[in-house]
Amino acid sequence: MTEKQAQTFDPIEMSSQQFELASCYIGELRTGLIDFLKHPKRISIVNFPVEMDDGSVQSFQGYRVIHNTVFGPGKGGIRFHPDLTMDEVISLAKLMTWKCALVNIPFGGAKGGVICDTKLLSESELRRITRRFTSELAANIGPNIDIPAPDMYTNEQTMAWIFDTYDVLHPGKNNRPVVTGKPIEMGGSFGRHEATGNGVYHLTERFLSKGLLADQQTVAGARVAIQGFGNVGAVSATTFHKNGALIIAVSDSQGGIYRQSGFDPAELLAFKAEHGTVVGMPDSLTLTNDDLLQVDCDILIPAASSHQIHQNNAHNINARVIVEAANSPLTPEADKILSERGIYVLPDIIANAGGVTVSYFEWVQNQINQQWDLDEVNTRLQKTMHRVLDLVFSRWQGFVVGEKTATNDTDSKNIDLNKPVFRSIALSIAIERVAKATLIRGIWP
Ligand code: GLU
Repeated sequence: MTEKQAQTFDPIEMSSQQFELASCYIGELRTGLIDFLKHPKRISIVNFPVEMDDGSVQSFQGYRVIHNTVFGPGKGGIRFHPDLTMDEVISLAKLMTWKCALVNIPFGGAKGGVICDTKLLSESELRRITRRFTSELAANIGPNIDIPAPDMYTNEQTMAWIFDTYDVLHPGKNNRPVVTGKPIEMGGSFGRHEATGNGVYHLTERFLSKGLLADQQTVAGARVAIQGFGNVGAVSATTFHKNGALIIAVSDSQGGIYRQSGFDPAELLAFKAEHGTVVGMPDSLTLTNDDLLQVDCDILIPAASSHQIHQNNAHNINARVIVEAANSPLTPEADKILSERGIYVLPDIIANAGGVTVSYFEWVQNQINQQWDLDEVNTRLQKTMHRVLDLVFSRWQGFVVGEKTATNDTDSKNIDLNKPVFRSIALSIAIERVAKATLIRGIWP
């Protein structure tokens, strides 16, 4: 058993700890309002039968959670995963609220998923699970109600099935905006597939340009380690490599590989397509996933699953900056340890917000029946990522130089509030925006 498996992680508790810490950087907020923002607006749990290829029937459980709709309809991915829990979906829906608020798009936060292992299912079984789940969600999704998107182990094909099912059930309308991350041929946006990985790159380049790492103010020459070589990890590797970074280590679910002189991501993709894993790549050292996280590098990109860096391994991290391409890859204990060790963390709610940003562009294109060209999408994405980094960075700097001061007493948090982590600052901006909008709208009745 690895150290990580020996621990249990409570996603709700972790997101409350992050929320509490962020609230130290917000001015006065009405107490009841804070409580409202902590809890999801609506939780749907569905159980449904699916006929399997061998004629047997299996029962599946799925969830869809809308955390908040103050800025607009729910928005967030649907994941298929054997270890999915409702608590995890709730905390991921919350993250989506903050992500959308930070990049300033008119959506609230949502998330969903089905407990299943895609590696054990055929294409037609996946199609039947997706269609039945979509129909079970019924009126809870819609172009102006709640708009799903891809997440772990779902993809463009899954989104096409969701669209098709919804469209069959609601004929005679433009239903394209019901789901984003669709195939290009079916109303998808150019650049959506690469958006999360490209966004990770744009955010990192802007962060480095601020000069906190005096000898590394651009991505060129930076030594990068990436955990996860799925869509987000592979696109990040490609974009960082194109801009002069050295991809010295990558991993997938089978393990990791290391090469001091760096890998060409195109060769890694070809190797993985042939062998089903990056492990075994010629001229590479084999690593475990834990080793990969501890590689001596400038930038570490966790692009796999949640809770990978925690109190038992945060002390061993040898990166200078961690960029959270996955959702929740760090626990609050890891945040504290890394901050004390002077390692910067660019949190998920800004680092992987490129995905939902281009999802919004797709939704707009679908509403107006247009398809923008790739350059237009990419230019808008880069601007958004730079703007959000600038926003978070300047507020962070305000606290660091003492222009602004944290509000709560430090003892209760066992943390030096005058050295905020970027997560707390980013969260504080998002929470403040949603709280303000709630009051401006006026609480009904
Ligand atoms: N699943 C992605 C995320 O966690 C994208 C969500 C979306 O595009 O709506 O941000």
